[in-house]
Amino acid sequence: MSRTRYCIANWKMNFTLSDAEGFLAEWENKTLNNPHIKTIFCPSFTELFAIADILKTSSSQLGAQNVFYESTGAFTGEISCAMLKEAACRWVIIGHSERRSVLGETDDMIHQKLHQLLTEDLFPILCIGESIDERNAGQTKAVLERQLNIACENLDSSSLNKMVVAYEPVWAIGTGKTATTEMVAETHEEIRNILSIIGLNEDAISILYGGSVSADNAESLSAIENVDGFLIGGASLDVEKFYSIYNQL
Ligand code: PEP
Repeated sequence: MSRTRYCIANWKMNFTLSDAEGFLAEWENKTLNNPHIKTIFCPSFTELFAIADILKTSSSQLGAQNVFYESTGAFTGEISCAMLKEAACRWVIIGHSERRSVLGETDDMIHQKLHQLLTEDLFPILCIGESIDERNAGQTKAVLERQLNIACENLDSSSLNKMVVAYEPVWAIGTGKTATTEMVAETHEEIRNILSIIGLNEDAISILYGGSVSADNAESLSAIENVDGFLIGGASLDVEKFYSIYNQL
């Protein structure tokens, strides 16, 4: 079955608006003629409106790096789905390992965020992944099962089929250490099985790989059967590297 492929830039806390504008001015001059690839840029919140304006006539789409699970109220520093929608944002990353580890987000919070996104008709990019200790202890599958089961618990399966899952081994994020093609192949297949056991249409859900994807390793990772694209941090800050990855998808 042919699933949508994704090339997603997670700019994290890196670009100012003028950096982002400079990047996108170059990006919009590139030939992006693969209709099977969705390209999504996830800038900082302060840049969303301006970037939505830039992408208005573009084939690339806008995503956010986070959202809160309540609709409104006394939640200093948080952002709601309605606010993201007002900025023409369609996609939202949740469960990123940096938010799990640095900001203490739990599986239960990620479940609530997923619920909120589906209720508000936004598209979730759900990140999951094991730490190096968990992989070395042979717990990778159990960790991914736990993360997916808790995130998806009691949520409507037809809505869940619209999400994208990003497998990001924590030890590969921003480290230059990429998972081997064997590890990625095995783990993506396991994820597809878990999605099926949860009762989802596992053939419809795109599963992305993230973790030190670069212009040099994109081709071999992209060729793996269950890899439907990439979530890219570091290499998404350089137009030529990001474009090279796009072209290898
Ligand atoms: C990420 O932060 O989602 C990521 C995969 O980062 P990097 O590509 O830098 O490893």
